[in-house]
Amino acid sequence: MTDLIPVGFVFHQSNLQAFQNCRFSFLLRYIKKLPWPAPLAARSSSFEQDLLAGSTLHSLIHQYFLGIDPELLVSCAQNFPDARVSGWFDNFLASKYAKITDNQFSEHSLQITLNGSLLLAKFDLLSFDSNTLQICDWKSSQTMPKRQFLQERVQTMVYALVAARSLPQAPRPITMHYWEAGFPDQPIIFEIGDAQLRKYEETITDLITSIRSLRVEQFERTTNLKKCAYCEYQNYCARSGLQGDEGSFHDWFEIGLSELQGKN
Ligand code: SF4
Repeated sequence: MTDLIPVGFVFHQSNLQAFQNCRFSFLLRYIKKLPWPAPLAARSSSFEQDLLAGSTLHSLIHQYFLGIDPELLVSCAQNFPDARVSGWFDNFLASKYAKITDNQFSEHSLQITLNGSLLLAKFDLLSFDSNTLQICDWKSSQTMPKRQFLQERVQTMVYALVAARSLPQAPRPITMHYWEAGFPDQPIIFEIGDAQLRKYEETITDLITSIRSLRVEQFERTTNLKKCAYCEYQNYCARSGLQGDEGSFHDWFEIGLSELQGKN
């Protein structure tokens, strides 16, 4: 253990994902709290547009669950400059996920203590009744992510773990639904039972323990240059202009989205 991580530090999906992407980015963003370099990092403008469109979709869905008139929201979506948002929101309204029921919590945060560390999750939608606990996560990917990719995401582990441990009487299995706005009929759904939760707990505990054990010089820059393509700290590392891939896009997109939504 080092004393780099301050008392009260809150781990969450984004900072754990950032650590997995690149230890050095974790150091800059979450320990040194360095602001975005100026001029803003050389991430492509299409990446930033995608972030804004995705964030707007999340906001519209959140307002829908708050009870705002759907027609008004449809009109807002139609007036948004990026036409994808309107199509996505229409897809949402036509999906089974637009059903309003009791015990639904949109943009809801829960926090647990895991082996002495704080672990937070902010859910797009949490719904439960006596038989089910359902976690929904809205996505706006250009290509459909693979099931295995999502299954191994730190987000899947953190969300299921925090939901289960903060609501100990929660029914099992928990279901995690990734709903892609551009592929509305293909939700990817995971059923997560107690054995899986124990594995998630072990994995996340090990990850946090590993972060806490590192000295400053051990927060090294990634050797996978694809990871740098969408990182906001490219200028710190003289790694701008690199080519990313779909995986690295996803790695940073969810972090950027959470930050835009004020989830971190
Ligand atoms: S530019 Fe690359 S090496 Fe530098 S912090 Fe970002 S991901 Fe890490």
